[in-house]
Amino acid sequence: MPTTTIQMQCHLPIPQPPAPHPLTSRHVAVIGAGAAGLVTAIELRREGHSVVVFERGDQVGGTWVYTPKIESDPIGFDPARSKIHSSLYKSLRTNLPRECMGFRCYPFVAKDDPDRDPRRYPGHQEVLWYLQDFTREFRIDELVRFETEVVRVRLVEEEEEKWKIKSKQRSGKDETEIFDAVVICNGHYTEPRVAQIAGINEWPGKQMHSHNYRVPEPFRDQVVVLIGSSASAVDISRDIAGVAKEVHVAARSVEDEKSGDQSGYDNMWLHPMIESVHKDGTVFFQDGSFVHADIILHCTGYKYHFPFLETNGIVNVDDNRVGPLYKHVFPPALAPCLSFVGLPWKVYPYL
Ligand code: FAD
Repeated sequence: MPTTTIQMQCHLPIPQPPAPHPLTSRHVAVIGAGAAGLVTAIELRREGHSVVVFERGDQVGGTWVYTPKIESDPIGFDPARSKIHSSLYKSLRTNLPRECMGFRCYPFVAKDDPDRDPRRYPGHQEVLWYLQDFTREFRIDELVRFETEVVRVRLVEEEEEKWKIKSKQRSGKDETEIFDAVVICNGHYTEPRVAQIAGINEWPGKQMHSHNYRVPEPFRDQVVVLIGSSASAVDISRDIAGVAKEVHVAARSVEDEKSGDQSGYDNMWLHPMIESVHKDGTVFFQDGSFVHADIILHCTGYKYHFPFLETNGIVNVDDNRVGPLYKHVFPPALAPCLSFVGLPWKVYPYL
């Protein structure tokens, strides 16, 4: 099995048959058919390995499969809530130019097709179409088992370096199989991370996480406190400012002197972080200002989550870091038979 690092990229110019004499051909499970799982699958196949991609959804694309559905618990506290994978909102356009969102072997170029989105920062549907085109071009779907969720991954005790994978099909059928290696590509924008707020259990308003934000309409005429300052917070605050009565953005990055009106909007204000919230509906900010709010919307990011993975403590998530990992991919004690593709946050994921 090669030990080369697979960040989301592929090198082959055209679809390739398996290499004639791989060093050793392994049976490899890839978990997830988003961008990371798709590119991992073709790289492994090119090296001559046999690959099975497990995908719990019914199509490729992961995050880029938009759904108007939201989870049963909009803040994401209830572990038994109905789960939705994608965190996309309807208005989302990419925040990277398409030139930075294509695999090297298959650039994300604008299509000469009136139904496609030729913009440099296209809408989310265009990214899904790109990933579907990529899948077709490299015949990746023949490797994917759709509607099959991996529920358990653990080392086989009797045989070192073998992995036992239990999966569950949507039909309810369970299966347990042995693989030589596992690559985890399950994404990290699904499990909400929320801000800790003093007094929140007494506060009477509604709370939700941006994972469950789709369209602005539910915020019509509401006073909204939105927490966060990253890409989703910026997009969503602007989206809802069109219909909400007031939007108050609270962010750790806002210092006292920068708080105040948000230019270009007469119903949006910037604040430092929330200090506390109270029974009467007030939300106090750290600079002493306060508002009476209807909703707190947490645009506060996500947690790594591998509910299926058992490594006897060798790989852990601590303070939202996965480790120990070599180059964010291989846990040294289990390499190369266990690896993670697509973990880093502040990157161009496809390059
Ligand atoms: P995902 O796309 O999340 O795919 C993971 C797959 O694993 C899913 O299909 C899921 O169903 C499957 N899965 C999970 N658990 C299991 C299991 N137990 N069994 C079987 N299958 C499982 N990136 C950019 O480059 N440009 C952007 O503009 C951009 N905008 C973004 C906007 C938002 C709101 C979000 C949330 C992300 C954005 N990203 C952007 C980052 C985006 O996540 C990456 O582009 C890329 O989609 C990540 O791919 P992935 O394969 O790692 O994960």
